[in-house]
Amino acid sequence: MAPTAVVTRRGGERLRAGHPWIYRSDVVSVDAAPGDLVRVSTERGRPLGSALWSDASQISLRFVSAEPPPDDERAFFRARLEAAIAYRATLGIDGTACRLVHGEADRLPALIVDRYADWLVIQTLCQGMDRRAAALTDLLVELVRPAGILARNDPKVRRLEGLEERVDVVYGDVPDRVPVRMGSVHVDVDLRHGQKTGLFLDQQENHAVAARYARGRALDAFSYQGGFALQMAPRCASVLAIDSSAAAVAAIQENARQNGAANVEAREANVFDELRELEVSGAEFDTIVLDPPAFARNRAAVPRALAGYKEINLRALKLLSPGGHLVTCSCSYNVDEPLFLEVVTQAAADAGVTAALVEKRMQARDHPVLVGVPETHYLKCFVVRRV
Ligand code: SAH
Repeated sequence: MAPTAVVTRRGGERLRAGHPWIYRSDVVSVDAAPGDLVRVSTERGRPLGSALWSDASQISLRFVSAEPPPDDERAFFRARLEAAIAYRATLGIDGTACRLVHGEADRLPALIVDRYADWLVIQTLCQGMDRRAAALTDLLVELVRPAGILARNDPKVRRLEGLEERVDVVYGDVPDRVPVRMGSVHVDVDLRHGQKTGLFLDQQENHAVAARYARGRALDAFSYQGGFALQMAPRCASVLAIDSSAAAVAAIQENARQNGAANVEAREANVFDELRELEVSGAEFDTIVLDPPAFARNRAAVPRALAGYKEINLRALKLLSPGGHLVTCSCSYNVDEPLFLEVVTQAAADAGVTAALVEKRMQARDHPVLVGVPETHYLKCFVVRRV
């Protein structure tokens, strides 16, 4: 007998509204082992489809399909992976790095697969996907023929699933530094230790957009390894990149050297302090990027986060020359787009600046937003022109 789960009517309705999760409080009964692909139905016996069961997380069921569990699981997951990979091939990404699988948005819940040239990084972030890690690895080898696959299973969310945090090479060899091209920029990526899976691939399209507006003196605040700075450099007289991480600053310097971008200066500093000092010294920039880490990691942190976003946007708008552009981002999923726009509006008002909204953007298209799951629209990016 296939493993089964019975859920409340409320759970079923949530699912019908487009949300592929069912929480513990909506599970009535379950007959399954951790990570099983279960047949889910309502208390009245209405079939809802199949989902991965977790006995540890508050997110008990993650739906993979509206059909009963497939007879041939391998063929099922192969088709899902194939579709996800085929979609990325249509995007015309000018570079060798992209996200191949973005979890729920590819109907492969809690599975992340990023491609860095000939290498893959995989994350299995729920019990069901983790149990299938070896099979998924085999399928990826078959479909992508990579030189190596790194399982970067160190995100803390794995604890909620009762899974340990670990990093392993699960196929082939993975060098310490993987050479990747993004547009005309070449960087070496540390897949084992870099933030996320090595780079902020979700910003890749916004890097290119920022480069279109970039000119004159540019500032890249919260620069990490220089994703924005390096794309903007060829268009600018100078780029000042600021990050509080010494390792990130060292990486920008190395990347700038490798790309012959002698006009990039990297500074290890706290952006909040540095913006204040730049203002005091009378500095002015024609292009500014603000790409801070998520200030609001939970709802309780939202008020403080808004104050933080407002402060950096206010200071940036003051430092911006008339006619200059601010590319301002927020990756807090608890701060939605209207709220973020309100913060930028207030910052402009307090700075005494007339600001025009030129573009509204989000995470790159290889990280799609799942409609019905608003929190998957986590990255907001506005291009604002000082009039
Ligand atoms: N813009 C980058 C990604 C930035 S991620 C890209 O597109 O690739 C956020 C960065 O902000 C991290 O590198 C982190 O080290 C840095 N950071 C966090 N708090 C900071 C602070 N107060 N001042 C400066 N940098 C900070």
